Amino acid sequence: MAADYADYHTHLARCRHATGTAEDIVWAAQEAGLEGVGISDHLPLLPHPDPDLAMEPDELGDYVAEVLALKALHPGFVLLGIEADYFPGRQADIAGLLDSQPFDYVIGSVHYLDGWGFDNPANLAGFQGRDIDDIYRVYYETVGDAAETGLFTIIGHLDLVKKFGHRPVGNLSPALDRLMYRLSRARVLLEINTAGLRKPVREIYPQLEVLTRARKAGIGITFGSDAHHPSEVGRDFAVAGRLARDAGYTSRAVLQPRAGSGRAEVGYVGLRR
Ligand code: ZN
Ligand code: FE
Ligand code: FE
Ligand code: ZN
Repeated sequence: MAADYADYHTHLARCRHATGTAEDIVWAAQEAGLEGVGISDHLPLLPHPDPDLAMEPDELGDYVAEVLALKALHPGFVLLGIEADYFPGRQADIAGLLDSQPFDYVIGSVHYLDGWGFDNPANLAGFQGRDIDDIYRVYYETVGDAAETGLFTIIGHLDLVKKFGHRPVGNLSPALDRLMYRLSRARVLLEINTAGLRKPVREIYPQLEVLTRARKAGIGITFGSDAHHPSEVGRDFAVAGRLARDAGYTSRAVLQPRAGSGRAEVGYVGLRR
C-alpha cells in the first residue's frame, strides 16, 4: 500500500513545534514502506508573526546540510524541500531565502490573512464577527496570488480554513472555479494532506468536492502527511489514495531531483488501486 506513495510534507524539531530529526523522518518513511520522502520544515521569514512557527534564519544552513547529508546517503529516496508561508508584499524576501538554498521543491502555504494566523487554535476568536464566506474567498484569492508568484512547486493544505470545522455557508463555486483556473495556469501541484484527519474537522485537505474541481482543471497531485512527529509519516495515505481516485484522479506527481541545482522535475505515475 504505502509503497505506492511518497510523503512530501514533513517537519522537524527545528521549527519548535514538531518532534524528531530528519534522520528520524527518513527511518519512519522506510519503515512505512514509502517510495520516497521529502523533508519540508517551515521556512524562517522575519519579522514573522509567530516566532514559534519556524526555525531561526541562521539555522537554515544547518537544516539544509542535515537533509542534504541524508539525501546523499539515500539517493532517489530523500528530497530537500521547505514549506514557505506566502505573505502578500514579501515576495522578494521569500524568493531571496528560497534562492539561497538548493531546494528540490517548495510547498507554498497560506496560514495568515492580514496577519491573522487563522489555523492557530490560540487565534480562534478571529472567526467571530467575520463572514465565513468572506474568509474563504479572501483565503482562496491569497492562495491564487501565492501560486502566481511562481515560487512554489506544491500548494499546501488547500482548504485549511476548515481546520476547526468552519464551513462556507453560501455558494463558493465561482471563487473555486477562479482559483482552479489560476492554479492550473500557474502549473503548481496540489497536495492531498492527511493532517486534517488529526484536526477538529477530521477531514483530509482538500475535501472531495474541491479535489474533483482540481482534477477537472488538470492540476497534478502529491501526498503529504504534514507530520510533526516521525510516527505521522505516511499516515492515512490509503485513505488519501481513495479520495484521489474518488475525485477521478488516475495518476499522481513524482518529484525527480535534478543533477546540479534547480527544482525537481515533475513526472507522473499511475495511482494504484
Ligand atoms: Zn508546523
Ligand atoms: Fe502549513
Ligand atoms: Fe506543514
Ligand atoms: Zn502544513
